[in-house]
Amino acid sequence: MKITCIGAARTVTGSCYHIQTKDANILVDCGAFQGAKDIEKRNEEPFPFHASKIQYLVLTHAHIDHSGLIPKLAKDGFKGKILATSATVDLCGVMLLDSAHIHERDAEWENKRRLRAGKPPVKPLYTVQEAANSLAYFQGVVYNKIIDLGNGIRVRFQDAGHILGSAIVEIWVKDDTHEKKLIFSGDLGQKNLPLIKDSTPIDEGDFVFIESTYGNRKHKGMTETIDEFAQAVSESLKSGGNVIIPAFAVGRTQDILYILNKLSREGKLNHLRVFVDSPMAMQATRITLKHPECLDKETLELVKTGQFPGSTLTLKFTESVEDSMAINRIKSSAIIISSSGMCDAGRIRHHLKHNLWRPECSVIFVGYQAEDTLGRRIVEGVKEVRILGAEIAVNARIYTIGGLSAHADRDELLDWLGKFKKKPQRVFVMHGEEETALGFAETIRNQLNMEAYVPRGMEEIQLL
Ligand SMILES: [Zn+2]
Ligand SMILES: [Zn+2]
Repeated sequence: MKITCIGAARTVTGSCYHIQTKDANILVDCGAFQGAKDIEKRNEEPFPFHASKIQYLVLTHAHIDHSGLIPKLAKDGFKGKILATSATVDLCGVMLLDSAHIHERDAEWENKRRLRAGKPPVKPLYTVQEAANSLAYFQGVVYNKIIDLGNGIRVRFQDAGHILGSAIVEIWVKDDTHEKKLIFSGDLGQKNLPLIKDSTPIDEGDFVFIESTYGNRKHKGMTETIDEFAQAVSESLKSGGNVIIPAFAVGRTQDILYILNKLSREGKLNHLRVFVDSPMAMQATRITLKHPECLDKETLELVKTGQFPGSTLTLKFTESVEDSMAINRIKSSAIIISSSGMCDAGRIRHHLKHNLWRPECSVIFVGYQAEDTLGRRIVEGVKEVRILGAEIAVNARIYTIGGLSAHADRDELLDWLGKFKKKPQRVFVMHGEEETALGFAETIRNQLNMEAYVPRGMEEIQLL
């Protein structure tokens, strides 16, 4: 059996593996590369396989760095099935269309520029219609059940505790006479994340492909993080302005809602007026409530008794542009959650424009801010920013809450790997910046005495 590590090899994004045996042609994930322009250029390169020959795509979760090239796969002739948990199928229905929308918009911008320069137009990576077409190949599966795909392949999805619907995938591959078990960790969640169940420990397998996003870092505990967040919100509200929270629509927004709800129920924060201003966040919240199989016990109880997402706090989702603009007329005590999480697109920019210059307001950052984003510049303390064509002074109080990561840290990754009863033949360290992945492989060798290897992009590996 042969496996090609197409993406997320010595880098974080572009997760995609191609497994080949005499009879089987399977992909695990089909993710887009994300980040700087030259990295995203790789999304336009042709796939290193024939899309029409792939029988199954096994998808770990809905994040675009794992799912974002699915519409391109379908466009290139894929006719197989895409297996994912039901929640992932629902989330992809929203996220792939949104991704297509961004590609269309980017192409439109680029073409305006090209037209002026007398150059021929470009096509988007895929269109909204092409993304919609690709959804027909999805098939929802349940957790914790072995599914026989034929051609010597069986798979099982287990909780990964990362985002709604996220899964660790176990794949048994039979080539000729012998069978090997491969484990793809997908993205592993931090323990005790709000809402969703923690990751499932796996105790046997021959080859493990583990993520290493935070393979060199230690997070603060969840309790400490929630306290820090409560403190920030409470201080902010006392100043008499609004509180702006930039957050990704899928995952982080629901986490924040959960935490605000908890703090309000416990009486630690009172009379909260929360606005979630993002149509996608509204859809993602609806999908979250539709999938009790993904939720942890505490959340399930709250949903059953009508205490989540609303009840003790006032909660309003806004969909239309008019409703969104109406929020801008509120001058004090509103908590506004909007996307994008790094402030470089979406409605959040309007809220920053209206509140960032007011010293009585605050902005609470709850997620990673990549280089060259508006969010990063604000976090780094610039005094003035340009938003929607206007110069805006940064007078609001800025908070950064670091502990809400959806990824396990170094110790949690080691803990998960340490659950194997018998050492796997080899551990492949994936989905991390090169230095982090190499460092984490070293940690695995030293602390767990396992054989660990960091593949390069497009590296072909024989698994015997
Ligand atoms: Zn992810
Ligand atoms: Zn990922």
